[in-house]
Amino acid sequence: MSESSTTAQGFDDLVEANKRYAETEFSTGGFDGIAHAGVAIVTCMDSRIDPLRLVGLKPGDAKIFRNPGGRVTSNALEALVLGVHLLGVKRILIVPHTRCAMAANTEQELRARIGESAGQDASWQAFHVVTDQRAALGADVAAVRSHPLVPDSVAVGGFLYDVDSGLLDQLF
Ligand SMILES: [Zn+2]
Repeated sequence: MSESSTTAQGFDDLVEANKRYAETEFSTGGFDGIAHAGVAIVTCMDSRIDPLRLVGLKPGDAKIFRNPGGRVTSNALEALVLGVHLLGVKRILIVPHTRCAMAANTEQELRARIGESAGQDASWQAFHVVTDQRAALGADVAAVRSHPLVPDSVAVGGFLYDVDSGLLDQLF
């Protein structure tokens, strides 16, 4: 698929990099998909966050669920229940972060910015912005702890990740 018949950027550079990765760094062939460190992390899609390395883990160690804001959505809860019961998860970290766009914009501001970028109306698109990050994190931690399929034996922590210092601050 290297034809340049479209104006969209192709994937050749990334596919080439993948071949190098498979030859040199890749080491989890034959792994079972269990979270070997017993950890699951829910965090933001933000490119400044390296969820495994920031807690000293590596591929194979943890289940990672990411979305805008690092929120415990219904999808996140599905993933956590699967993780706890089928994939060895014993500790769950919920990790939003400082300077998150989802907490720095109002829903109206995001819709306006997206509408401007898209060149069309975006007022119908929900983004689920966070108005109070600490309160949202507390509610998200409570949602996991109180889920009927998450046993009390599973530790659930709520942390704010500082994208400027690299440090986690446990709030819940
Ligand atoms: Zn974010």
